[in-house]
This record gives sequence, C-alpha cells and structure tokens, in this order.
Amino acid sequence: MTTGLGPTVGSPHPGYGLRVRFDSKALDLAAADYMCPCGRAEDAVGYDAVQQLVVRFGRHQRDDCPIPEIRTAAARHYAALQHSLSKRRRK
Ligand SMILES: [Zn+2]
Repeated sequence: MTTGLGPTVGSPHPGYGLRVRFDSKALDLAAADYMCPCGRAEDAVGYDAVQQLVVRFGRHQRDDCPIPEIRTAAARHYAALQHSLSKRRRK
C-alpha cells in the first residue's frame, strides 16, 4: 500500500502517520492521508495536493503538534534529512 514516497515521522502507534499512494504513470490519481496522534487528520488527492499535504504534515509535526514527543522526533528527522541533502548537494 505505502510507496515510501514521503517520510513517516513520529508515528509511535500503528495507524498513525503519513501514507502516500503514488503511481508515476497516473499522477492525478496520487492520494495521501495522515493521522497524527494528537488527533489531526487530513487527506488529499492529486499530485500537487499530495505534495502539499506531505509538507503540511511535516510542518505540523515539527512546529504545530501539541505533543512534545512528536515535535522532538520530527525535528530530529528533519535535521538528519537536511544534513544528508546538503551533503548530496555539495558533491
Ligand atoms: Zn500532531
């Protein structure tokens, strides 16, 4: 089911987190949804909407989530991600 397109951050319980269904041959059929342990949930259909949802989810967990453990885990995840991206860019 999950393609692994987006990062799944801070999901201590099964069923929580970000799920993305993505078909490279049919971008308009891309779909995603997330459910945060704090109760926030959203879904999107279509390539652009899915990308925006992935960004919103990351931002929520890093900055907006009322659960401190989620924000801590997300901040760690994004720090590692940015580190590896900047390393790749320098080469
Ligand atoms: Zn949350």
